[in-house]
Amino acid sequence: MDCLFCKISRGELPSIKVYEDDTVYAFKDINPIAPVHILIIPKEHISKLEDITPENSGVISHIFEVAAKLAKDMGLENGFRVVSNCGEDAGQTVFHIHFHLLAGRKLGWECQ
Ligand code: AMP
Ligand code: ZN
Repeated sequence: MDCLFCKISRGELPSIKVYEDDTVYAFKDINPIAPVHILIIPKEHISKLEDITPENSGVISHIFEVAAKLAKDMGLENGFRVVSNCGEDAGQTVFHIHFHLLAGRKLGWECQ
């Protein structure tokens, strides 16, 4: 499949890896909007949040464990945010589900 994040997780395209295990890959966002901006993805291709099912949701809960571990390892005591954009109105641009881990500055809540 011609999917950017599948290729990144397989090492076929470059990325700055911050974490990897059997099912999950995490790397630095190429266009960061905060001092810490990491993308956490399942290695398995799932297009978007509404495609999560009872069969594939195990890796999604594991992604949140990884987010908690990364936040601890990076010492993000002031807090952090995990967000997944789903579909056009939310601004999803890459259709391989991903979770943005954002931190390092005060994050606003209002969406433009
Ligand atoms: P979204 O808009 O929620 O779909 O997020 C896609 C994210 O992927 C954006 O924050 C992009 O900056 C990021 N991105 C796109 N291509 C790459 C890449 N090759 N390496 C790292 N991050 C990327
Ligand atoms: Zn993919």
